Amino acid sequence: MDVAELRLKAWRGLVDFLTPSQCLICHQPAGEAQGLCAACWAGLTHLDEPACNILGTPFTYEQGPTAVSVAALANPPAWDRARAAVAFDDRSRPLVHALKYRDTPQAGHLMARMMCRAGRRLVAEADLILPVPLFRWRLWRRRFNQSAVLAQEIARISGTPWNPMLLVRQRATRSQVGLNVSERRRNVRGAFVLSVDGVGQVKDKTVLLIDDVRTTGATLEACADVLRTAGARQVDVLTFALVLEPARLHN
Ligand SMILES: [Zn+2]
Repeated sequence: MDVAELRLKAWRGLVDFLTPSQCLICHQPAGEAQGLCAACWAGLTHLDEPACNILGTPFTYEQGPTAVSVAALANPPAWDRARAAVAFDDRSRPLVHALKYRDTPQAGHLMARMMCRAGRRLVAEADLILPVPLFRWRLWRRRFNQSAVLAQEIARISGTPWNPMLLVRQRATRSQVGLNVSERRRNVRGAFVLSVDGVGQVKDKTVLLIDDVRTTGATLEACADVLRTAGARQVDVLTFALVLEPARLHN
């Protein structure tokens, strides 16, 4: 980090200190320490129970905690259960971008708290929390992995062990943007491995995979496959946002 960047960071820290309640989405005064103003909070599509126990997609009425959607039965994913805090749309996108492209710790805190609430059963039952890894040059270029930031924060809140080094992205994958479901699957196939000491650490464990956005789920499925092969007892998935209609997406 050079001097200019250090100065910028210090200035941002000062601005944050002076205006602690600025909304992370619209940048207007938030009024509370929540991180979002009331209008932006209400504008998010919060995904809570009742939901499909496998896909985390919302049900319109209560069907019991283990109810499963037709889509999950028709196309069972590689994981056991998935949940997300909000739908990925125009209103939640600024929050995802705030975490991904700017050094905004408040976004990570807020998003992790929302994820802990939406995925409370998954978090409570997890033995180990793992973030979806970035390939190392991308990590270097962006300086941090947004999934690891969320995983670390969720681990801190829940007191569950986490490890950002167990899952490794062994080759660069092209961006999933613009690819359809089967292209996305092909793009990430074989991209992930467990580190040398990783196998012993996931065997017979309930593992919770963390990412910022779930689109088709291809990346998370590739990670879940690796964990299953290594003997994980259960693999759950918790993301901040979920694309409810991936077939129509061009993010
Ligand atoms: Zn706002």
